[in-house]
Amino acid sequence: MLQVLASKVMANAESVDYLVIGAGVAGLRAAIELARHGEVLVVTKEALGESNTHYAQGGIAVALSGEEDIALHLQDTEYAGDGLVYRSAAQVLVSEGPLRVEELIAWGTGFDRLNGQLLLAREAAHSLPRILHAHGDATGAEISRSLLAIARQHPRIRFADWTMITNLVAEDGRAVAADLFAPESASLRRIRARAILIASGGAGQVYSDTTNPAVATGDGIALAAQAGAELADMEFYQFHPTALSLPGVPRFLLSEALRGEGAYLRNHSGERFMDRYHPQLELAPRDVVARAIAREGMGANPGESLPVYLDMRHVEGIDLNQRFPGISRFLALHGLSLHRDQIPVRPAAHYLMGGIRTDLDGRTTLRGLYAAGEAACTGVHGANRLASNSLLEGLVFGARAANAILEDGLSLPSVEAHATTPTAPDPIQIEAAITALRTMMWQDAGLLRDRQSLEDGSAKHREISEELSQFAKPEQGSRRLYEAHALVSLAQAILLAAQARTESRGAHFRNDYPKRDDENFRKHSVELNEEIRFEQW
Ligand SMILES: Cc1cc2nc3c(=O)[nH]c(=O)nc-3n(C[C@H](O)[C@H](O)[C@H](O)COP(=O)(O)OP(=O)(O)OC[C@H]3O[C@@H](n4cnc5c(N)ncnc54)[C@H](O)[C@@H]3O)c2cc1C
Repeated sequence: MLQVLASKVMANAESVDYLVIGAGVAGLRAAIELARHGEVLVVTKEALGESNTHYAQGGIAVALSGEEDIALHLQDTEYAGDGLVYRSAAQVLVSEGPLRVEELIAWGTGFDRLNGQLLLAREAAHSLPRILHAHGDATGAEISRSLLAIARQHPRIRFADWTMITNLVAEDGRAVAADLFAPESASLRRIRARAILIASGGAGQVYSDTTNPAVATGDGIALAAQAGAELADMEFYQFHPTALSLPGVPRFLLSEALRGEGAYLRNHSGERFMDRYHPQLELAPRDVVARAIAREGMGANPGESLPVYLDMRHVEGIDLNQRFPGISRFLALHGLSLHRDQIPVRPAAHYLMGGIRTDLDGRTTLRGLYAAGEAACTGVHGANRLASNSLLEGLVFGARAANAILEDGLSLPSVEAHATTPTAPDPIQIEAAITALRTMMWQDAGLLRDRQSLEDGSAKHREISEELSQFAKPEQGSRRLYEAHALVSLAQAILLAAQARTESRGAHFRNDYPKRDDENFRKHSVELNEEIRFEQW
């Protein structure tokens, strides 16, 4: 009798109070807050420090000099966002930013100083110097180091590195659990939580040319959408104007701060060309600079490309190797020097303004699921992010999401345990599908788009998606397969939103609709189940 009863009792999945997906600035800031009230498990796809946060060079924008600076920071953020910044979100960002950054300094983040005073740099589209940086051009690594140091000391924070989330379980309109895959042991296990925070960062890997590291495949965004959460503004992908352009070398970022320190852009004839595109010249908003570089780099014949250069040879009074040690080291590996050479550059996918739609406190449209940082879309960046606003976004909205989770106080759900050991499918076929997808996205849904390119892209997308569907079986799994599914779903979301927005705004430029159309499109795109609608926020 006892045995019969025991077999009827559902074995609950293992549990934690709060499950945080991602250990970048947003996930870590949230975890530190959440740990005051319960047990936190932070999951990361690779080693703890590997994230977009780690690679952030230029710095963190923050208005530390009072009300006027805060008002100007808001104005700059709205201007860069090209009429689509959700003002309430931007207001939160700029006004809570100083508090969050002061807290970070108190926790040991070593921003660069001169005679004890914080050094402030200026970047594109900022009306004042207000960018704090660390070790010259290693700001993200320093922020990541200091947050990790605090989080690691906390007895209620556990980490699961080299582990990836592959599925979100939703029951009765609430996210209740997630499946975690550890590639080394090929084991998949389910874990339930009172709340799940997606802080899994961006999705630059959906494009063949990107500044983002390999972990940035947009998994959290794709899974949230599959679980029933709304996405927003997916058509807005920021292309950084100046990634290193050397054959066979990764698109290493050449920070905006180089132009802040006076770098010029020159075309193949040595001409400084930005005066033909924008009055702020090299410090114009990113999308303008990126498109200008793309145009200057187009040859007379289709497919022909011409080099475009970043030039600092004229900059005097700064030791560029000292100010930009990381960049200088990387360039030296390839025989280049900021003092001596013109550096070949081209745009690369950099930052996703869209993502999982959230309110100002990280709540998604699915109960129990929260999002913060680059994976989330509060509307704070509108159609184009102001340089160096995203590290700040991670801090401010990471903390707010944690507070909302605590305030909502959801109970621990019951969820049946589930564990399996999937077998790895053919890696060559999966890699080929990923490469085809990324190339298609660059060509058809990249910096310049139009109806034809987006339709071509959608047709290729269907083929790639069909190819991958043979691997859509639960008993098959590998990190690259899960990533391939995420990338396909992300690409679909971007293609749909880019087709629906028949205007040009911020980072979304349509050759066939080159003008901004406020009457019809001063609105955010919202996607659910592959349906798009536009909403005013
Ligand atoms: C080269 C570069 C330079 C930049 N420079 C600046 C700058 O100067 N200033 C600025 O403000 N912004 C900059 N940015 C942008 C900024 O770094 C990011 O927007 C920000 O750090 C994102 O933080 P996040 O916490 O949202 O995500 P991330 O820092 O990207 O962290 C994502 C985390 O999620 C984990 N993850 C992803 N998928 C999964 C999964 N399936 N399962 C488990 N874990 C997962 C990753 O392992 C990682 O730990 C830069 C970005 C890049 C790439």
